[in-house]
Amino acid sequence: MAGDNDTEKLRRFFVEKINKPTTVLTGNEKKHLADVLRAKVGDKIILCPNDGKDYIFEISAFDKNSITLYYEEEFVNPTETNLFLTVFPALLKGDKTELVVQKLTELGVKRISPFISEFTVQKSEKNDRLKRTAHEASKQCGRAIIPEIDDVMKFNDMINKLADYDAVVFAYEDAFTNGNRITDVVKGNERNVALIVGPEGGFSKKEVEEFINRGYKPVTLGKRILRAETASISATAVIMQLCGEWS
Ligand code: SAM
Repeated sequence: MAGDNDTEKLRRFFVEKINKPTTVLTGNEKKHLADVLRAKVGDKIILCPNDGKDYIFEISAFDKNSITLYYEEEFVNPTETNLFLTVFPALLKGDKTELVVQKLTELGVKRISPFISEFTVQKSEKNDRLKRTAHEASKQCGRAIIPEIDDVMKFNDMINKLADYDAVVFAYEDAFTNGNRITDVVKGNERNVALIVGPEGGFSKKEVEEFINRGYKPVTLGKRILRAETASISATAVIMQLCGEWS
Protein backbone atom coordinates (compact mmCIF):
# COMPACT_ATOMS: atom_id res chain seq x y z
CA MET A 1 0.00 0.00 0.00
CA ALA A 2 1.24 3.47 -0.93
CA GLY A 3 2.79 5.33 2.00
CA ASP A 4 2.45 2.47 4.50
CA ASN A 5 5.26 1.47 6.87
CA ASP A 6 6.78 -1.08 4.50
CA THR A 7 7.00 1.45 1.69
CA GLU A 8 8.55 4.05 3.97
CA LYS A 9 11.44 1.66 4.71
CA LEU A 10 12.33 1.10 1.03
CA ARG A 11 15.52 2.61 -0.39
CA ARG A 12 14.96 5.58 -2.63
CA PHE A 13 16.89 6.36 -5.81
CA PHE A 14 16.69 9.48 -7.94
CA VAL A 15 16.94 8.63 -11.62
CA GLU A 16 16.72 10.64 -14.85
CA LYS A 17 13.79 8.62 -16.11
CA ILE A 18 11.95 5.39 -15.61
CA ASN A 19 10.54 2.92 -18.11
CA LYS A 20 7.60 0.62 -17.52
CA PRO A 21 7.46 -2.28 -17.02
CA THR A 22 11.27 -2.59 -16.86
CA THR A 23 13.94 -0.07 -15.96
CA VAL A 24 17.65 -0.80 -16.06
CA LEU A 25 20.03 0.78 -13.56
CA THR A 26 23.69 1.23 -14.46
CA GLY A 27 26.69 3.25 -13.21
CA ASN A 28 26.77 4.55 -9.65
CA GLU A 29 23.22 3.56 -8.75
CA LYS A 30 23.92 -0.01 -9.89
CA LYS A 31 27.18 -0.07 -7.91
CA HIS A 32 25.56 1.34 -4.79
CA LEU A 33 22.65 -1.09 -4.88
CA ALA A 34 24.72 -4.18 -5.69
CA ASP A 35 28.06 -3.58 -3.92
CA VAL A 36 27.19 -1.31 -1.00
CA LEU A 37 23.63 -2.31 -0.12
CA ARG A 38 24.05 -5.91 -1.33
CA ALA A 39 20.53 -5.96 -2.72
CA LYS A 40 19.07 -9.25 -3.94
CA VAL A 41 16.62 -10.38 -6.59
CA GLY A 42 13.13 -9.83 -5.19
CA ASP A 43 14.06 -6.71 -3.16
CA LYS A 44 11.90 -3.66 -3.74
CA ILE A 45 13.13 -0.09 -4.18
CA ILE A 46 11.63 3.31 -4.94
CA LEU A 47 12.64 5.18 -8.08
CA CYS A 48 12.09 8.93 -8.25
CA PRO A 49 12.39 10.62 -11.63
CA ASN A 50 11.92 13.99 -9.87
CA ASP A 51 8.26 14.31 -10.89
CA GLY A 52 6.77 14.24 -7.36
CA LYS A 53 5.84 10.55 -7.58
CA ASP A 54 7.35 7.41 -6.04
CA TYR A 55 7.58 4.37 -8.34
CA ILE A 56 8.00 0.97 -6.67
CA PHE A 57 10.12 -1.50 -8.61
CA GLU A 58 11.26 -5.02 -7.79
CA ILE A 59 14.76 -6.25 -8.66
CA SER A 60 14.42 -8.99 -11.25
CA ALA A 61 18.01 -9.60 -12.43
CA PHE A 62 21.64 -8.63 -11.87
CA ASP A 63 24.24 -8.38 -14.63
CA LYS A 64 27.89 -7.38 -14.49
CA ASN A 65 27.08 -3.75 -15.37
CA SER A 66 23.38 -3.40 -14.76
CA ILE A 67 20.38 -4.27 -12.64
CA THR A 68 16.97 -4.92 -14.17
CA LEU A 69 13.92 -3.78 -12.24
CA TYR A 70 10.26 -4.62 -12.74
CA TYR A 71 7.53 -2.00 -12.20
CA GLU A 72 4.98 -2.65 -9.43
CA GLU A 73 3.07 0.52 -8.52
CA GLU A 74 3.31 4.28 -8.23
CA PHE A 75 1.84 7.02 -6.05
CA VAL A 76 2.12 10.72 -5.40
CA ASN A 77 4.76 11.25 -2.71
CA PRO A 78 2.93 12.64 0.33
CA THR A 79 5.91 14.64 1.63
CA GLU A 80 5.95 17.31 -1.09
CA THR A 81 4.46 20.72 -0.25
CA ASN A 82 1.97 22.66 -2.34
CA LEU A 83 3.87 25.79 -1.44
CA PHE A 84 6.71 26.70 -3.81
CA LEU A 85 9.19 28.29 -1.42
CA THR A 86 12.45 29.63 -2.82
CA VAL A 87 15.16 30.64 -0.38
CA PHE A 88 17.85 33.10 -1.45
CA PRO A 89 20.64 32.68 1.14
CA ALA A 90 23.77 34.82 0.89
CA LEU A 91 26.86 32.60 0.59
CA LEU A 92 28.31 31.80 3.99
CA LYS A 93 31.81 30.94 5.16
CA GLY A 94 33.13 27.37 5.30
CA ASP A 95 30.52 24.60 5.17
CA LYS A 96 27.64 26.79 6.33
CA THR A 97 25.93 27.07 2.94
CA GLU A 98 25.99 23.28 2.71
CA LEU A 99 24.34 23.06 6.12
CA VAL A 100 21.67 25.53 4.99
CA VAL A 101 21.00 23.52 1.81
CA GLN A 102 20.69 20.31 3.81
CA LYS A 103 18.25 21.74 6.33
CA LEU A 104 16.14 23.63 3.79
CA THR A 105 15.83 20.46 1.73
CA GLU A 106 14.54 18.60 4.79
CA LEU A 107 12.04 21.40 5.39
CA GLY A 108 10.58 21.04 1.88
CA VAL A 109 11.99 24.09 0.07
CA LYS A 110 11.66 23.78 -3.72
CA ARG A 111 14.49 26.02 -4.85
CA ILE A 112 17.67 27.44 -3.31
CA SER A 113 19.32 30.39 -5.03
CA PRO A 114 22.56 31.45 -3.31
CA PHE A 115 23.85 34.98 -3.92
CA ILE A 116 26.76 37.25 -3.10
CA SER A 117 26.30 40.79 -1.83
CA GLU A 118 28.51 43.64 -0.66
CA PHE A 119 29.42 42.12 2.72
CA THR A 120 29.63 38.49 1.62
CA VAL A 121 32.98 37.06 2.70
CA GLN A 122 32.77 33.78 0.82
CA LYS A 123 32.73 34.77 -2.85
CA SER A 124 32.24 31.39 -4.54
CA GLU A 125 30.83 27.95 -3.85
CA LYS A 126 30.92 24.70 -5.80
CA ASN A 127 27.43 24.22 -7.15
CA ASP A 128 28.08 20.46 -7.57
CA ARG A 129 28.72 20.13 -3.85
CA LEU A 130 25.46 21.88 -2.96
CA LYS A 131 23.56 19.75 -5.49
CA ARG A 132 25.01 16.60 -3.96
CA THR A 133 23.99 17.77 -0.50
CA ALA A 134 20.42 18.45 -1.68
CA HIS A 135 20.32 15.02 -3.37
CA GLU A 136 21.47 13.20 -0.22
CA ALA A 137 19.11 15.16 2.02
CA SER A 138 16.13 14.50 -0.29
CA LYS A 139 16.87 10.77 -0.19
CA GLN A 140 17.30 10.74 3.56
CA CYS A 141 14.07 12.59 4.32
CA GLY A 142 11.89 10.73 1.83
CA ARG A 143 11.21 13.46 -0.72
CA ALA A 144 10.40 12.75 -4.36
CA ILE A 145 11.87 16.01 -5.62
CA ILE A 146 15.38 17.35 -5.21
CA PRO A 147 15.24 21.13 -4.78
CA GLU A 148 16.74 23.10 -7.61
CA ILE A 149 20.07 24.64 -6.70
CA ASP A 150 20.90 27.69 -8.79
CA ASP A 151 24.39 28.87 -9.62
CA VAL A 152 25.59 31.58 -7.27
CA MET A 153 24.20 34.92 -8.49
CA LYS A 154 24.99 38.58 -7.87
CA PHE A 155 22.82 40.72 -5.60
CA ASN A 156 21.31 42.59 -8.59
CA ASP A 157 20.33 39.37 -10.37
CA MET A 158 18.82 38.05 -7.14
CA ILE A 159 16.70 41.15 -6.52
CA ASN A 160 15.47 41.16 -10.13
CA LYS A 161 14.02 37.69 -9.62
CA LEU A 162 11.77 38.70 -6.73
CA ALA A 163 9.04 40.14 -8.99
CA ASP A 164 8.06 36.53 -9.83
CA TYR A 165 6.78 35.82 -6.29
CA ASP A 166 3.40 36.31 -4.54
CA ALA A 167 5.17 37.24 -1.30
CA VAL A 168 8.73 38.34 -0.53
CA VAL A 169 10.19 37.96 2.96
CA PHE A 170 13.26 40.21 3.09
CA ALA A 171 14.78 39.30 6.46
CA TYR A 172 16.53 42.31 7.96
CA GLU A 173 17.98 42.28 11.45
CA ASP A 174 17.28 45.99 12.08
CA ALA A 175 13.57 45.68 11.29
CA PHE A 176 12.32 44.90 14.79
CA THR A 177 11.08 48.41 15.61
CA ASN A 178 9.70 49.65 12.29
CA GLY A 179 9.54 46.61 10.05
CA ASN A 180 6.99 44.00 9.12
CA ARG A 181 6.39 40.71 10.93
CA ILE A 182 6.40 37.59 8.74
CA THR A 183 2.62 37.43 9.21
CA ASP A 184 2.28 40.90 7.60
CA VAL A 185 3.81 39.52 4.41
CA VAL A 186 2.78 35.86 4.32
CA LYS A 187 -0.96 35.39 4.74
CA GLY A 188 -1.02 31.66 4.12
CA ASN A 189 -2.74 31.49 0.73
CA GLU A 190 0.36 32.26 -1.37
CA ARG A 191 1.74 29.62 -3.74
CA ASN A 192 5.12 31.22 -4.51
CA VAL A 193 7.09 32.72 -1.66
CA ALA A 194 10.67 34.06 -1.64
CA LEU A 195 12.80 34.34 1.51
CA ILE A 196 16.02 36.39 1.39
CA VAL A 197 18.66 36.12 4.10
CA GLY A 198 21.87 38.16 4.19
CA PRO A 199 25.48 37.10 4.88
CA GLU A 200 27.32 37.10 8.24
CA GLY A 201 27.91 40.86 7.95
CA GLY A 202 24.31 41.63 6.97
CA PHE A 203 23.14 43.86 4.10
CA SER A 204 24.71 47.23 3.27
CA LYS A 205 22.60 50.42 3.58
CA LYS A 206 22.52 50.69 -0.22
CA GLU A 207 21.19 47.14 -0.54
CA VAL A 208 18.50 47.73 2.07
CA GLU A 209 17.41 50.87 0.17
CA GLU A 210 17.29 48.86 -3.04
CA PHE A 211 14.82 46.43 -1.43
CA ILE A 212 12.72 49.28 -0.06
CA ASN A 213 12.70 51.17 -3.40
CA ARG A 214 11.28 48.10 -5.05
CA GLY A 215 8.51 47.83 -2.48
CA TYR A 216 9.95 45.05 -0.29
CA LYS A 217 9.63 46.21 3.30
CA PRO A 218 12.14 44.69 5.74
CA VAL A 219 10.83 41.81 7.86
CA THR A 220 11.97 41.07 11.39
CA LEU A 221 12.63 37.55 12.68
CA GLY A 222 12.47 38.72 16.29
CA LYS A 223 14.43 40.73 18.81
CA ARG A 224 17.63 38.74 18.70
CA ILE A 225 20.17 38.76 15.88
CA LEU A 226 20.25 35.26 14.47
CA ARG A 227 23.17 33.68 12.69
CA ALA A 228 22.46 33.68 8.97
CA GLU A 229 21.98 29.90 8.90
CA THR A 230 19.58 30.03 11.85
CA ALA A 231 17.64 32.82 10.10
CA SER A 232 17.20 30.79 6.87
CA ILE A 233 16.18 27.62 8.68
CA SER A 234 13.85 29.14 11.26
CA ALA A 235 12.11 31.53 8.86
CA THR A 236 11.54 28.65 6.45
CA ALA A 237 9.86 26.65 9.21
CA VAL A 238 7.64 29.61 10.13
CA ILE A 239 6.62 30.21 6.48
CA MET A 240 5.80 26.50 6.06
CA GLN A 241 3.63 26.66 9.17
CA LEU A 242 1.82 29.81 8.00
CA CYS A 243 1.09 28.18 4.64
CA GLY A 244 -0.32 25.02 6.23
CA GLU A 245 2.67 22.82 5.39
CA TRP A 246 3.73 21.89 8.92
CA SER A 247 1.77 18.76 9.59
N1 SAM B 1 24.67 42.60 10.36
C1 SAM B 1 24.52 41.86 11.52
C2 SAM B 1 25.69 42.00 12.43
O1 SAM B 1 26.82 41.76 12.00
O2 SAM B 1 25.41 42.30 13.56
C3 SAM B 1 24.14 40.40 11.45
C4 SAM B 1 23.66 39.81 10.19
S1 SAM B 1 22.83 38.28 10.49
C5 SAM B 1 24.09 37.34 11.20
C6 SAM B 1 22.68 37.57 8.91
C7 SAM B 1 21.33 37.70 8.26
O3 SAM B 1 20.35 36.95 8.99
C8 SAM B 1 20.76 39.08 8.15
O4 SAM B 1 21.25 39.79 7.04
C9 SAM B 1 19.27 38.82 8.05
O5 SAM B 1 18.89 38.53 6.74
C10 SAM B 1 19.09 37.59 8.93
N2 SAM B 1 18.70 37.91 10.31
C11 SAM B 1 19.35 37.59 11.45
N3 SAM B 1 18.66 37.98 12.53
C12 SAM B 1 17.54 38.55 12.10
C13 SAM B 1 16.41 39.15 12.74
N4 SAM B 1 16.31 39.22 14.06
N5 SAM B 1 15.43 39.66 11.96
C14 SAM B 1 15.51 39.60 10.62
N6 SAM B 1 16.55 39.05 9.95
C15 SAM B 1 17.55 38.53 10.68
